[in-house]
Amino acid sequence: MNRYWSSVAKGLRPYVPGEQPKLAGLVKLNTNECPYGPSPAALEALRIEVGDTLRLYPDPNCDSLRQAIAACYGLTPERVFVGNGSDEVLAHAFLALLKHEQAVLFPDITYSFYPVYCGLYGIEYRQVPLTESFEIRVDDYLAPNGGIIFPNPNAPTGRPLALSEIERLLRANAESVVVVDEAYVDFGAESAVGLIERYPQLLVVHTLSKSRSLAGLRVGYALGDAGLIEALRRVKDSFNSYPLDRFAQAGAAAAVTDRAYLEQTCAKVIATRTRLADELGSLGFEVLPSAANFVFARHGRRDGAELAASLRERGIIVRRFDQPARIAQFLRITVGTDAQCAALIAALSAILA
Ligand SMILES: *Cc1c(COP(=O)(O)O)cnc(C)c1O
Repeated sequence: MNRYWSSVAKGLRPYVPGEQPKLAGLVKLNTNECPYGPSPAALEALRIEVGDTLRLYPDPNCDSLRQAIAACYGLTPERVFVGNGSDEVLAHAFLALLKHEQAVLFPDITYSFYPVYCGLYGIEYRQVPLTESFEIRVDDYLAPNGGIIFPNPNAPTGRPLALSEIERLLRANAESVVVVDEAYVDFGAESAVGLIERYPQLLVVHTLSKSRSLAGLRVGYALGDAGLIEALRRVKDSFNSYPLDRFAQAGAAAAVTDRAYLEQTCAKVIATRTRLADELGSLGFEVLPSAANFVFARHGRRDGAELAASLRERGIIVRRFDQPARIAQFLRITVGTDAQCAALIAALSAILA
């Protein structure tokens, strides 16, 4: 604390991102980045942007990018909002759509940025416990609320929620916005994008950071009714007119258009995930069924924090959460390349021996 800080700065409890180590040569399985590079078409689009036009501001409305995204889903661009990473899109959604008299609802075990945004914007929230088996139960959300948000598949559990359940929630919850954060949807869950035509309270948020291998470019987007998108735009234009630079707009447009590359990447990650889960199971881990590019696993006899520390000594980093207590024994392990996962399994076998 410092005497020059505002009361807002004093009251903040910032999100703590996973470590981005400066050390080279680590097997980095802690922040759910993709182990494969971005689409070659995206890289080429970035190269073309290096030049004299960098003198000029980028398009504040990101029209070409929004058009490219809209085309992927057969939507009009008025239903697309883009931001500097989906974290920014989510932040705007909290302020523009989820700040109401009643509390916003989200799972007790979920993306830990949600309560941080609530703290920043002074939004009341209520955390709804996952079931014993770490699943979202829609019935638990059928109560008056100021909005509902959850990732599908959920993070850090990796467990997906069926589309029919999401639709049941939408049918019962027409009075407030439902945000489905589909950061990991390409790895095996059912997308709710097809529902936005029928449910004007549904906002679906995507990122290029995971399945599109572009965490370094910082691009995310939201799809929904034009009225919801307009609210996001109002917040954006009250904060930063140019959140996406020329590189982000050009690279992202090329990346979203390269559907074949996405499918290739996801197929590789899914195949490795299946093997990794089996091998962890053989080593005595309980592995939650994952539809994401990570697995959430705990060992029957060995302490989670100790396992994470021993892995780190061997140059492998995974993510672990102290809170809430019922997930403290779990490791969240990003699905890397086959070689990275083999290194992880070899290290765990040595540690457990
Ligand atoms: C990674 C992640 C995001 C943020 O993605 P960015 O686009 O990189 O900001 C959002 N939601 C969930 C659940 C995530 O895991």
